[in-house]
Amino acid sequence: MCGDRIRGARLAWPTKEAPGYKTQIHTLHVVAVRKGQTEVNAPEHATWGTVKCNSCFHEFLIGPPALYGVFGAENAYVKKLEAILTWEHKRRQQHQNNYDLGA
Ligand SMILES: [Zn+2]
Repeated sequence: MCGDRIRGARLAWPTKEAPGYKTQIHTLHVVAVRKGQTEVNAPEHATWGTVKCNSCFHEFLIGPPALYGVFGAENAYVKKLEAILTWEHKRRQQHQNNYDLGA
């Protein structure tokens, strides 16, 4: 029993930072990262899926922190991101490389 060490998640922790990215996101919040850019990545985050902007069709990978997850429903974060993207188009603002969608 004592020899049965914790396996799995902790050992699967990514050990090397991805080269080429200027910024790495370290947060326990849900994040969205724009696809097709090499400025920002979130190596500690899992991916729920891709959210596509309805106006310009840019795609964003959205997901929770891999080891901890979040309590909220996935759909609520997707809706939040969609609202931000719509709001940015109304204001004629460019989309950001990444978004913090809260815990
Ligand atoms: Zn857009």
